Amino acid sequence: MLSIAPTGSGWIEVICGSMFSGKTEELIRRLKRAEIARLRVITFKPKIDTRFSLDQIVSHNEQKKSSIPVGSAKEILALAKNADVVGIDEAQFFDNALVDVCQELANHGKRVIVAGLDQDYRGKPFEPIPQLLAVAEYITKTLAICVKCGAPANRTQRLIQDPNRVVVGSSELYEARCRHCHEIYNNSTPEGDNNNL
Ligand code: ZN
Repeated sequence: MLSIAPTGSGWIEVICGSMFSGKTEELIRRLKRAEIARLRVITFKPKIDTRFSLDQIVSHNEQKKSSIPVGSAKEILALAKNADVVGIDEAQFFDNALVDVCQELANHGKRVIVAGLDQDYRGKPFEPIPQLLAVAEYITKTLAICVKCGAPANRTQRLIQDPNRVVVGSSELYEARCRHCHEIYNNSTPEGDNNNL
C-alpha cells in the first residue's frame, strides 16, 4: 500500500503503537526506501528525546538515521521547505500544533511520515497522535510482544511510579504489555482509584 509513486499530491502516514513495537524501525525503513528512490528526505525529532543520540533517530534494533532536533513543531515548516518526504519521530513529545504542520506539509505536496506513541503509560490516547490519525491517509499500528504472557501488546507499562505523563526513558523504565497484563497504579493518577479498573 505504501509503495505508491509520488504523484505531486502529498499525504500523511502515521505509524503508531506502544514502546518496543518497532515504530522507529518502520519509519527508518520507509525513509531509506524514499532515499533509494532519490527523493529528498528530511527527518525530525523533538529536542526532549536525547536517549540514544542528539542528531539521529535510533530504533531499538539499532537502525539509525540522521535527524534534526527541533524545539517546536512550527520549526519543521521552514526546515522542510525543499524536501519531498518528511519524517517525524516521537511525535507524542510535540504539542497539537504538529497536526497543522503536517497538514500544511501534505497540502504542499509532501509525503509526511509520523511515528509516535498512541497511548500514554495509563493507556489513554496520547495527543497529538489521535488527531493525526483522524487526518492521515495511511495508518499503521505496530504491536510489541507482552513481556508477561507473550501476547501481542499495544500498551506501555511504566515500571516506576511517577505521576508525570512524560518521563523520557527506555527499557529501564518501560516494557510492553498486552491489555490484560497492563497495570495502572492507584497513586499514579490524580483522578483516584477508578483508574485502576
Ligand atoms: Zn500479557
